[in-house]
Amino acid sequence: MKNVKCCRCVKCGKEHAAKPDVTTCDCGGILDVIYDYDYIKTIFDKNTLKHRAEPTMWRFRELLPIEEDTVPKGLRVGMSPLYEVPNIAADLGIQKLYIKDDGVNPTASLKDRASAMAVTKACEAGYDTIACSSTGNAASSLAGNAAKAGLKTYIFVPSRAPKGKIAQLMMFGANLTAVDGSYEETFELSKAAIDKYGWYNRNAAINPYLGEGKKTVAHEMIEQLGFHAPDFVAVSVGDGCTVAGVYKGLYDMYMVGLIDRIPRIISVQAEGCCPINTAVMTDTPWRPQEENTYADSIAVGVPRNPDKAISAIKNSGGICVNVTDDEIREAQKYLARNAGVFGEPAGVTATAGLMKLSREGRLPHDATVVSIVTGNGLKDIDSAIQSAGEPVHCKNDLAEFEAKFGL
Ligand SMILES: *Cc1c(COP(=O)(O)O)cnc(C)c1O
Ligand SMILES: [Zn+2]
Repeated sequence: MKNVKCCRCVKCGKEHAAKPDVTTCDCGGILDVIYDYDYIKTIFDKNTLKHRAEPTMWRFRELLPIEEDTVPKGLRVGMSPLYEVPNIAADLGIQKLYIKDDGVNPTASLKDRASAMAVTKACEAGYDTIACSSTGNAASSLAGNAAKAGLKTYIFVPSRAPKGKIAQLMMFGANLTAVDGSYEETFELSKAAIDKYGWYNRNAAINPYLGEGKKTVAHEMIEQLGFHAPDFVAVSVGDGCTVAGVYKGLYDMYMVGLIDRIPRIISVQAEGCCPINTAVMTDTPWRPQEENTYADSIAVGVPRNPDKAISAIKNSGGICVNVTDDEIREAQKYLARNAGVFGEPAGVTATAGLMKLSREGRLPHDATVVSIVTGNGLKDIDSAIQSAGEPVHCKNDLAEFEAKFGL
């Protein structure tokens, strides 16, 4: 990989060769992929993208850690729509709002970007089995992308994972274990099994390439905005890999000269589980918290990527905001009804954060904001019906129908 210099430890700075199955540093620190931006600038610019038809995350391959001759093995991931929503921008009192709907990815979440990368790297390294633990979406996206690439999967989810995600996992043929315990315990069991059996490791923050897949969501929004940086990018935060990836993607675009500044990140967590925001807001080391939120994808009491996440938020001059489950429910309905975008609870949490900041008068009126919807609402229909309600029941009787709707 001529575009990649090495993988550098975020804790001790030690440099490691960028092998496809590199994991963490001997000191326990997680690794960051370091690029040779001077070289990349000689092979990649706006024109490269203009002449590239490929509507997937791999259109940014010069900024991705894959070999020059690698053919990506996963599903058709990326180039999700960026909707401008002037009606919502007006409600929020800002100049422009865009919704980046990553729920349209093949297994219906942003995690597809990381899983497509993981599967591609596992194939580069010649593995036939890949494993992970996950709150649900990393798991289902891994199972789907691995099925396409012909890899076996061993997957661990907390037993609380919603039915939609379990259905995907079983349908994709994963060897699935539902762990009776927290996400923390689920992670520990997966780690023990991966250490023992030597499978390719797709665990969040352990594998440095996953965030490199996720960062393509930021590359895309910049291309879709005509290479104008928005003022803010709002993102929901659990383990912290997504927010770190978003920052990395924006940083890439800045380093190759495609934007002139890095947008500020709005980090949104659930009030009942917000260890990363707490650390940033109080400027103290992060501490484990309970997992008290129905937004299962961000119910992460022991985040796996706090270091990169916290520096992403801080380096961007970011803002942290926590929202209640009721505020998430309200945002879910609001976004579905005013933008036609149906996100899962964690998927709409960023938008819930914007709604709260707007109520508190903390968004500048001239701001341009991108809010990322990270997962599709069909993943968790029980919670959706609880928020949105039941349909009107009616016999085959026009008068009864009219009476029920007051027509
Ligand atoms: C995983 C996930 C997140 C948060 O990503 P982290 O890397 O865990 O911070 C947000 N929303 C959805 C739908 C997710 O699946
Ligand atoms: Zn180290």
